[in-house]
Amino acid sequence: MRPEILFPLFAPVSTLKGVGPKILPLVEKLAGPLARDMLFLQPQGLIHRRLTTAEHAREGEVQTLKVRIEAHFPSPRPAVPWKIRAYDGTGFLTLVFFKGQSPHLQRQHPAGVERIVSGKVERFGGELQMAHPDYILPVERAPEIPEIEAVYPATAGLSSRVVRKLALEALERAPELPEWLDGPFLAREKFPPWREALVQLHNPRSEADLMPQAVFRRRLAYDELLAHQLAMAERKLTRRKQPAQPVPDSDTARAVEAALPFALTGAQVRSLTEIRADLEAGERMSRLLQGDVGSGKTVVAMLAMADVAAAGRQSVLMAPTEILARQHYETLARPLEAQGVGVLLLTGRDKGAGRAEKLKALASGHAAVAVGTHALFQDDVIYRDLALTVIDEQHRFGVADRRRLQDKGAAVHLLAMSATPIPRTLELTLYGDLDVSRLDEKPPGRTPVATRASPMPRLPEIVARLRGAVEAGAQAFWICPLVAESEVSDLVAAEHRAEALRKVFGPQVGLIHGQLPNAEKDAVMAEFVEGRLSVLVATTVVEVGVNVPNATIMVIEQAERFGLAQLHQLRGRVGRGTRESACLLLYDLPLGKTAEARIEILRQTDDGFLIAEKDLELRGGGDPLGLKQSGFPAYRLADPVAHRDLIAVAADDARLLLNKDPELAGPRGRAARTLQALFDWKAEGPDAG
Ligand code: ADP
Ligand code: MG
Repeated sequence: MRPEILFPLFAPVSTLKGVGPKILPLVEKLAGPLARDMLFLQPQGLIHRRLTTAEHAREGEVQTLKVRIEAHFPSPRPAVPWKIRAYDGTGFLTLVFFKGQSPHLQRQHPAGVERIVSGKVERFGGELQMAHPDYILPVERAPEIPEIEAVYPATAGLSSRVVRKLALEALERAPELPEWLDGPFLAREKFPPWREALVQLHNPRSEADLMPQAVFRRRLAYDELLAHQLAMAERKLTRRKQPAQPVPDSDTARAVEAALPFALTGAQVRSLTEIRADLEAGERMSRLLQGDVGSGKTVVAMLAMADVAAAGRQSVLMAPTEILARQHYETLARPLEAQGVGVLLLTGRDKGAGRAEKLKALASGHAAVAVGTHALFQDDVIYRDLALTVIDEQHRFGVADRRRLQDKGAAVHLLAMSATPIPRTLELTLYGDLDVSRLDEKPPGRTPVATRASPMPRLPEIVARLRGAVEAGAQAFWICPLVAESEVSDLVAAEHRAEALRKVFGPQVGLIHGQLPNAEKDAVMAEFVEGRLSVLVATTVVEVGVNVPNATIMVIEQAERFGLAQLHQLRGRVGRGTRESACLLLYDLPLGKTAEARIEILRQTDDGFLIAEKDLELRGGGDPLGLKQSGFPAYRLADPVAHRDLIAVAADDARLLLNKDPELAGPRGRAARTLQALFDWKAEGPDAG
């Protein structure tokens, strides 16, 4: 329930003065639907409206002058601007108004009156000009012109100055709120009170006030991080309270493990132990298994699923693509079925009688393990006793998808898997409500992938060498970038590349991309896996988890267009066997500094977590890792990179607060409720169910 004190901020943004029907959609798009959203809009720049004279005015700068209006020069036709000549005792200033300016200019500012004008000063043919002054006011209203003016994000039809007015009005509405921060912490950080911080946010005095490290900005960021961490910690507590039937470890799983052609890595053993402790605890598990590409997550999940099957219950493994689901099925089916565990594959391709048969096996419990895609949680899919859901590449699914799958049973355990290397510093913002197991060790016997970078003009040479390798039996991926905005032309580029390579390699060149129907994707992939294709030209559809042990060469075209994490994941597709592998990064000239540094990092290390941290250092802001695509929360005031030192503090703070006051009923707890209501973080997160 929202505290009454927040009502003014939760009124529609249309209730702010000046938001008429014309600009409402623009305001909503820019800030959001509520007055609060306007309050949280941060200024991005400053204008110093220096007071000056015509004599001393500087070209190209925004300045303020006190002038007397001398004469109007109405525009004779629309193409010619209306001009007003003004004089301030030191020189002339011409005010210029382009099109549509009517005689009201003359009424409002008749010759002889004094005016304060403020705007960008320019010089044209010796004439000092100000086109469309930002302010043109009677002298007594001069105080309305701020000396330093915050600049806000703006769009066509909605100027920064209008946005600023709205933000300041929203600020007027912001009440003093009870302090939710811990007193000593507040003092140590020298944080101002919440409302004071907002006043400073919207009234920056210097460039330093625009920086994320300005103390009031840090306070506001901390508040948001704390609200988010509180929501996640509460969710975790709630989930813990849901009893779940314990699943003990089993001989079945031990037999599956014993039959594997390899021994588990130390990290796999550790993760499996952590998962088993959860399954046995009698509480609902919510665990993330995080591990770089190729770290062997699937096997760990398989053994947990074997335990569940041995307990007479069911598990599902959901993957984001059909190719991946099929691969998982092929990995799991034999080892599990050898121990009498029924496994089936369910995807969108299952239709009619075949599908009905599979649904029957799930409803009867005949199949203990289902592997598949979204098809696993369609309405008519019923499980006899679903106990565990494993979600591969979990960030590819929406909260709603994950919840629908969870809802197929009671108190279903969740094991989410992710190969997106999130730096430790940021992990809490993504997974604060999950327990995390980490596969930080690669299975043995992998040879590191030799990584090289090469400029595009050397393409012929590269193709020639690739030809040699292919003749010697190697297989290669050839990745062409796909950028959402220009999907079509990128696809054309991939098609051209495939065609060009076919001229050299013949028909053993395949092409796979996101727009192919699933059945065709699978068919092409299968040909590649079976070795009937030597070169697979692909857009990034191969990025996710696909395993082709015989592929040893990865060529990435326009590598400068990929993020570091993405490049790392793509490279992870090769080097899976014991044979020497190579990754070739092709780039267009000239190569920018950042791109160069990124390529250098990739050449130096193969550790996904380290790569992620490095990338963070390298860019220091924005969305360096494609975090938004990884399901990263959309903070308004916090910058997860710039404010990363505050994340762990906020997480501890949230945990401590909930330990002391689980119902948030004490004075600080109640204030924290207000904080939560202010941000409304409840519905977000990997497992909001
Ligand atoms: P991930 O999903 O984490 O990227 P996979 O589960 O697909 O990795 O495993 C990658 C490959 O490594 C698979 O071929 C798998 O059989 C193999 N593998 C897994 N664990 C081990 C291990 N302990 N030793 C050797 N190979 C392993
Ligand atoms: Mg995988």
